[in-house]
Amino acid sequence: MQNFTFYNPTKLYFGKGQLDKLQEELKQYGTNILLVYGGGSIKRNGLYDQVTTILEKENKQVFELSGVEPNPRVTTARRGIEICKTKNIDFILAVGGGSTIDCTKAIAVGAKSEDDIWEIVTKKANATGALPFGTVLTLAATGSEMNPGSVITNWETNEKHGWGSPYSFPAFSILDPDFTKTVPKDQTVYGMVDIMSHALEHYFHHEENTLLQDRMVEGILQTIVETAPKLLEDLENETHRATVLYNGTMALNGMVNMGYQGDWATHNLEHAVSAVHDIPHGGGLAILFPNWMEYVIDENMERFKQFAIRVFHVDPNGKSDKEISIEGISRLREFWNSIDAPSRLADYDIGEDSIEDMADKTVIAKPEFGNFKKLTRDDAIAIYKASL
Ligand code: NAP
Ligand code: FE
Repeated sequence: MQNFTFYNPTKLYFGKGQLDKLQEELKQYGTNILLVYGGGSIKRNGLYDQVTTILEKENKQVFELSGVEPNPRVTTARRGIEICKTKNIDFILAVGGGSTIDCTKAIAVGAKSEDDIWEIVTKKANATGALPFGTVLTLAATGSEMNPGSVITNWETNEKHGWGSPYSFPAFSILDPDFTKTVPKDQTVYGMVDIMSHALEHYFHHEENTLLQDRMVEGILQTIVETAPKLLEDLENETHRATVLYNGTMALNGMVNMGYQGDWATHNLEHAVSAVHDIPHGGGLAILFPNWMEYVIDENMERFKQFAIRVFHVDPNGKSDKEISIEGISRLREFWNSIDAPSRLADYDIGEDSIEDMADKTVIAKPEFGNFKKLTRDDAIAIYKASL
């Protein structure tokens, strides 16, 4: 484990009824509020009414940005920035999933910047500040509710990039499992795959003495494996929704990966697929992760062996390290198949003809990507081919 500094200023309100805290939080900020949300799920499940009632009680002047897309577009973030600049917005409230929150981060930073937000997303310019913002989360997946990261898509250039800044932590996030009960089955599955993928990205590294970190990451993986079938049987079960919601936050709020750097090649590979084909992030990860694992298995077999034995309880007796490791990857695949996650690019009608294009996108930011094993464009092509 290396030296580290841990900083996470997001105040978390977790559990039933915690929306009550919104009113108190709002008192600290000025009158002009930008309310950001997605395609309408919060109107259908009543959360929009609950939130706007609280905003009215606090006599806030509310401006709205609705229609944030899954895989949020830079054009939508620019619309939000424009509202912030012209209406003197004091505070932004994101109500929705990771896409709504990620878009809100881009708006908050863009509102305090002279540079176009795409320059900041592509790291050609630095963030210099942000409007304060809070979130009410409606989907367990990204961890965006308690981290400074954001992923933004540019549909004109077919690019999707992750970025972050010290200014893009939410001031607070409200997580009530009740608000996630209406997430449909497919999005629930994608969310759980994303959570597991964040854990997996952490897990594959070469750092020594990460004993506690390993156990915490394995805990997240095992908790999802244990809870997923029960939740999918009973999508409105509050206990299972709460378990998955807490796991989602813990998988990517910096708590389980102190002192070492995870891999993140598979997220880069997935962003390139989504940038060209606009598929759900978790669906892409379910297809790519096992194929990335097989591709890099020889890089540090011990990690794969430990994963197989500890997470999926593979019996090591009479098997070589490689056999144990491969069995671990197969078990992950079987598990994701059992919850109806996609397993091939063909599931999204993505064929060989777009591999070159997607591979180009993996190396726009840097010629090499991934930390566990440095990968190049050629490696991306090989992994995409294995995923067809
Ligand atoms: P999402 O894109 O925010 O939402 C997916 C769908 O679920 C939307 O159609 C949304 O509908 C619906 N939905 C959300 N909450 C719902 C509810 N309570 N009931 C019914 N439907 C609901 O999904 P996400 O997985 O949270 O976010 C994905 C994005 O985050 C991707 O762009 C991904 O790359 C990024 N990401 C970010 C991070 C990070 O750290 N910042 C990490 C990983 C991934 P409405 O639009 O109608 O609300
Ligand atoms: Fe993710």
